[in-house]
Amino acid sequence: MQESNYSVNNFEQCIKCTICTAYCPVVPVNPLYPGPKQAGPDGERLRLKNPFFYDENLKYCMNCKRCENACPSGVKIADIIHSARKKYSSARPSLRDRILAGTDFMGAVARPVAPVVNAVMATDLAKVAMDSFLGVDKHRSFPKYQFKGFEGWFRRNARKAQAEYPNQVAFFHGCSTEFQHPEVGKAFVSVMNALGYGVQLIDEQCCGVAMISNGLWKAAEKHARHNIETFSKTDLPIVTTASTCTFTMRDEYPDILGVDNSAVRDRITLVEKFIYEKVDDGKVKLVFKPDFKARVAYHIPCHMEKLGWSIFTRRLLEAIPGMNLTILDSGCCGIAGTYGFKKENYKYSQAIGKPLFEQIASVHPEYVTCECDTCKWQIEMSTGYKVLNPILILAEALDLEATSRANAAQ
Ligand code: SF4
Ligand code: SF4
Repeated sequence: MQESNYSVNNFEQCIKCTICTAYCPVVPVNPLYPGPKQAGPDGERLRLKNPFFYDENLKYCMNCKRCENACPSGVKIADIIHSARKKYSSARPSLRDRILAGTDFMGAVARPVAPVVNAVMATDLAKVAMDSFLGVDKHRSFPKYQFKGFEGWFRRNARKAQAEYPNQVAFFHGCSTEFQHPEVGKAFVSVMNALGYGVQLIDEQCCGVAMISNGLWKAAEKHARHNIETFSKTDLPIVTTASTCTFTMRDEYPDILGVDNSAVRDRITLVEKFIYEKVDDGKVKLVFKPDFKARVAYHIPCHMEKLGWSIFTRRLLEAIPGMNLTILDSGCCGIAGTYGFKKENYKYSQAIGKPLFEQIASVHPEYVTCECDTCKWQIEMSTGYKVLNPILILAEALDLEATSRANAAQ
């Protein structure tokens, strides 16, 4: 495994234009945050002279990467900030941070008693207790755990048939598909099968993004190493339905955690990109239902902006006859994974997301779509509109039997 690239970060490329500051969603709402220029390249110059200049307020960076997208000099601003947190911060993760970061552990604990956990978490008493004793804001609502997960469904209903398909993919389904939204994994399997691809599950662990956000660096590195080793054992494409998992495994593993993923990085992809490229190459056909109709607003998550892959989702959705699609203005929803769950961040989180929530209300779609589950939770809680992963829309819009026949005849 390679060493962290912290020592070769490119802060010296900064030309001090302050464009990053104009694009940072935290700066206008939180006076405590120094902003990307000061927290990133400017701060780095000082920290290298003397670690005394490290500022614990760097914790307010949401790692949305909007500053990096805007920077004309290609400075890896957010990577510099999070590498500095990793190197200099003396703050230790609290119990709250560990609970929020332990997505797979918490899911496994909650699942056997999911109805009870869901009912208790929805009560005012539990919310006030978590606010007072843990620091999880009482206004936040929690996604519901499912009693039956995706992997169990796959083993019982789908695994046997997968070997019959002429092509294969490995599916990294992530924690939320396993514990909260198994319907996303089921839709993935049905669409991939209709396209002539069998689905293989792999020995995955949580991508570790919540551990990175909460300063659990060693645990995040452990998960990263495990996943890269698992991916190395297959030569199949590693396909996901979640934009942040994809981005984390492709870019955060080497850039923040110092875990070398070069042998597998190019095989880690998002399902919309995978399908679009196969259609574009003439390798698969999509047959849509003639009577499907929907009025949908597409929110592009921050990490989709960073990947530059929203065009694939957009083109696929636009290809659906009967689709009335609005592309929402590019903007952060404010949740940033676990960031918006924290009491100290809640008001900033909601202020950041407000323009997006207002635009959704003005568009008044039947539902919203986006590839990120925490964006989904934030938008559903803050607007009341339902949010669906694009693979659910594709699974519903496709005539799966006709698509299967079309691809079998290829
Ligand atoms: S990653 Fe996002 S929150 Fe952090 S400095 Fe950049 S724009 Fe601001
Ligand atoms: S946008 Fe880039 S070049 Fe401009 S101040 Fe920010 S880091 Fe420096």
